[in-house]
Amino acid sequence: MDPENIFPSFDIDVEGIITAIAENGYRKVLLQGPEGLKRGLPLLAEIIEKGTGARVLIDAEPCFGACDHAGERALAAGADALIHLGHSDIPSMDRNMPVPVHFFHAEMKVKWDMLHAGLKKIVETVSSKRIALFTTVQHISLLDQAKRFLEDHSATVLIGEPGGREAFPGQVLGCSFSAAEGLELENASLLFMGTGRFHPMGLSTSTGKEVHTLDPVTGAVGKITTMERERFLRKRFGSIQKARDLLDGGCMTGILIGSKPGQRRVELASDMADLLDVKGYDYRMIVMDSVAPMKLFTLGLDLVINTACPRIALDDSVSYVRQGIVMITPVELRMALDELPWSEYRFDEEW
Ligand code: SF4
Repeated sequence: MDPENIFPSFDIDVEGIITAIAENGYRKVLLQGPEGLKRGLPLLAEIIEKGTGARVLIDAEPCFGACDHAGERALAAGADALIHLGHSDIPSMDRNMPVPVHFFHAEMKVKWDMLHAGLKKIVETVSSKRIALFTTVQHISLLDQAKRFLEDHSATVLIGEPGGREAFPGQVLGCSFSAAEGLELENASLLFMGTGRFHPMGLSTSTGKEVHTLDPVTGAVGKITTMERERFLRKRFGSIQKARDLLDGGCMTGILIGSKPGQRRVELASDMADLLDVKGYDYRMIVMDSVAPMKLFTLGLDLVINTACPRIALDDSVSYVRQGIVMITPVELRMALDELPWSEYRFDEEW
């Protein structure tokens, strides 16, 4: 079976996986991947077994990011190592891993003519041809291509350095937009290459600028406008105000600590607890692996301060509201308690 046929929409370094297993002499490995790659894992396991002679087990749990690697399950299954597919390493994550973890990210295949058509539209519409370029790991190797194309069309391209959670320049995560931090963006246009509104909204919120978007697969272009960012902020300010009212009304408050290896922010949770102590509010510390509305509902919580994956509070708040739960980030709790002015709203990036 040709690996090309297993994952028709993605490029994955199957040779690299085989080499890593052979060079390290692993006899048994656990193979983990996100939902979008799960279907191909049994066939990939077969290819790896043929190429290495090692036994390959498949991890069937959901997987949301490199922060969610299954090192502990690999150890429990007696594997020598974990092969984590789909995401790049988070360098600042706890390196005390139960077994060695090898990250192999997956890149979406694109049609160059679609991408070039999209880039051409962007270069014709941007107000400044100093273009800061950002993407997710699924498109990371397109950055160089896109940079060359834009420069050939008289643009100057800026690509920011990675922070502690990113593996590549220009890469952004739902929990980190460090690539924008060191760049001089005052007279620049921002371009996010990728899918969905969440990452460009994070970029827009952390820079205070509009963000052009380009879906590299379809070539479709769009924009996070100031109006859209303000609509998002109004919703978050609504949640902050509700949190304030709930606290004053003596609600059941939980401070959520994520137990996934790259989501553990125990110190930040303690800071939140100290803040509530000082203000005289009651709370419980809650520990969870996969965060889900029903689990919190069952505990009778009204308000949850989430120190696990920031995306849960910001991108999935509706699911929690349906269960009568207001979920906010640590930044938002500081605002609810008047420790931070509302003008300084930002995404949760405290790692
Ligand atoms: S913490 Fe959330 S946003 Fe960050 S890498 Fe993990 S899943 Fe993605």
